Amino acid sequence: MRTGQPPEDQAPEDQAPAGHASDGHPPADHRRLGRELKLFITDPIVGAGLPLWLPDGAVIRAELERLAAEEAIRGGSQPVYTPVLAKRALFERSGHWAKFADDMFPPMRVGARDGRPGEELVLRPANCPHHVLIYASEQRSYRDLPVRLAELGSMFRSELSGVLGGLTRVRQINLDDSHVFCAPEQVRDEIVRGLDAVRRCYRLLGIDIARYRLSRRGGGDGYLGSEELWADAERQLVAALGELGLDYEDAPGEAAFYGPKIDVQVTDAAGREESLSTVQLDFNQPERFDVCYVGSDGARHRPVMIHRGVLSSMERMVAHLIERYDGAFPPWLAPVQILVLPVGDDHAAQARCVVGQLRAAGLRAQCDPADATLGARIRRAQGRRIPYIAVIGDHEARASARAAAANGPDGCGPGATAQVSLRLRDGRQLDAIPVTRLISEVSRQVADRSPALGFD
Ligand SMILES: [Zn+2]
Repeated sequence: MRTGQPPEDQAPEDQAPAGHASDGHPPADHRRLGRELKLFITDPIVGAGLPLWLPDGAVIRAELERLAAEEAIRGGSQPVYTPVLAKRALFERSGHWAKFADDMFPPMRVGARDGRPGEELVLRPANCPHHVLIYASEQRSYRDLPVRLAELGSMFRSELSGVLGGLTRVRQINLDDSHVFCAPEQVRDEIVRGLDAVRRCYRLLGIDIARYRLSRRGGGDGYLGSEELWADAERQLVAALGELGLDYEDAPGEAAFYGPKIDVQVTDAAGREESLSTVQLDFNQPERFDVCYVGSDGARHRPVMIHRGVLSSMERMVAHLIERYDGAFPPWLAPVQILVLPVGDDHAAQARCVVGQLRAAGLRAQCDPADATLGARIRRAQGRRIPYIAVIGDHEARASARAAAANGPDGCGPGATAQVSLRLRDGRQLDAIPVTRLISEVSRQVADRSPALGFD
């Protein structure tokens, strides 16, 4: 259902994160860093809660989207695309309209003229109903299950402007949400698959998981589906956690009426706990849309639907990562991976040529021309948290010429095998190395999504 944006655990955006300022640095705050590092802005004429992703922020989001797409394929999901608009009737059928109409933008009436009522379209609060319809678009047999549909789609919340800000309270959410349709006895395997994907991605992203929380049914009625269905599903969730050797916090009575779930809890830079990713069982949507599969007995059976968000929303994940890394992203996520600094104007042509070589190898490189002292430009680059700063001056030009004499030219500069001196953003300094080695080392770190900075 409305996965990925739990509203209740978020502090108002006006409230800066409390916390670790003992070293004299201000605590990491994604709104401040977002401005300073030019990752995103908001503009009053666009509206509150509608951030504009700047080029450097867009790089981070694109890398996450690529990871989500790879992970979806790896997990056996099929990517789909569905529209952000639908007739109001769709969300009446799904139940969103009755429950969440206050959080949805009001309907747009289209084509009402000459006495015709036209139709009412709404911006979607979730893409789950669309995926149910894709599942229902053909007859499914037990042999087709699980059907897994993945989409990183936009959804909308009509939050009031007073509570909006940064990337964590927004009106458009871009959510990594897969939907699995499976037989009840397949739930455990699908949960294992979902939690595996979350753990793998979090490892790559450097996010520590604080704990898992299992939200189960409480006493009383008001829950959809039989007690046996719930008991069996909860048993499978526990078995999945057990199979992965994961401890969890038991939360009886915390489940939504439509199914139990497992939340993956993380701690933000200010020490607050939040749930980023969720695996949520749903007995409701299949019921409301009357979807089924034909079992081995030839009869119609109801599939279980699982909402499975791996990377959460792009907004919340990027906000979390900005604060977690204090803007100093690992090379694969860094908007600019290598900044090339010519010491003086004489070295500008060589620097531009090196940037061209790095870009041709698929790396994100820029040149910072000699408009200030080298020291000032190195500090500027370190302030931008750029992982690698490649310096080209007379020393490197001589080294290039010597290497060219020994090995032959590699195409950069007049008869030179380009060499650069490296500064790292943490202040370390490396000896001159050939650009070809810089390319192979950084490319490997990027391909591995490695957290490493520097080479052995
Ligand atoms: Zn969903």
